[in-house]
Amino acid sequence: MNVIIDISNNIEEKECRICFESTNVEDLISPCYCRGTSKWVHHSCLQTWRENSENQDARIKCMECNYEYNLISTNVPENIPFLKHFIDDNDQIKGKYTSAYLFLLLYSLMSYPILFEPLEKYNNYVSIDILNYYQPNNKKIFLDFIKINDFYYMLYYYSLNLSINNNIIYFIIIMNLFCNIKYKRYFFRNIFLDFYKNIIFLNLAYIFYFLFFICDLNGTFILLNFTMQLLNYYTTRKLLLKMNYIIKNINANNCD
Ligand SMILES: [Zn+2]
Ligand SMILES: [Zn+2]
Repeated sequence: MNVIIDISNNIEEKECRICFESTNVEDLISPCYCRGTSKWVHHSCLQTWRENSENQDARIKCMECNYEYNLISTNVPENIPFLKHFIDDNDQIKGKYTSAYLFLLLYSLMSYPILFEPLEKYNNYVSIDILNYYQPNNKKIFLDFIKINDFYYMLYYYSLNLSINNNIIYFIIIMNLFCNIKYKRYFFRNIFLDFYKNIIFLNLAYIFYFLFFICDLNGTFILLNFTMQLLNYYTTRKLLLKMNYIIKNINANNCD
């Protein structure tokens, strides 16, 4: 008797067994042996159901007819292209990273007399203005200090240029991640604190200067800023390894 078989083939009768809606017909699938009112289910509804199920079995099979779903991974693996340049297949930092950092140090050293100094002189030392909240007295103390000390003068502008370049690199990394990461919420929830710490650390000298207004400790400020720019080599390195770790984690858990 074939009379009542598969009335659900009739398009009007298709209804999702989870949300009981007949809308989005093109998303309706029949994933198991269940027939009748349980035959159809929205792909998205089933996906949510599986993900939220406490029962591990319910993630892989229909709990009514026990049919194991044909699960095909539709997830494209997570991938950050620039990371491959710096981390090898054994999750170790490549020597290329050190070379890139040395290049940055050298580039900043070469570029500051060409870019920064003339611009600063032309703008009446605007960076020192900003650093001292536009207070003429403090600016004068700072300026007098670096003008009689060639070493500090050079180091101040070198560190300033380096810190701007380092901050730009962080900005580029974050933009790059936003464009490439598909599981943004998970990824950024796990990496947020590391980014935050790194950027604070990178700009620690400025933060100290702003907070405590150590204008009579100009030399300390300049040395601290320079040290932070160098230590950024280690903190960025740690950040890259953490990113790699999170990406691997996402990909390992993406098999279903
Ligand atoms: Zn549904
Ligand atoms: Zn079933």
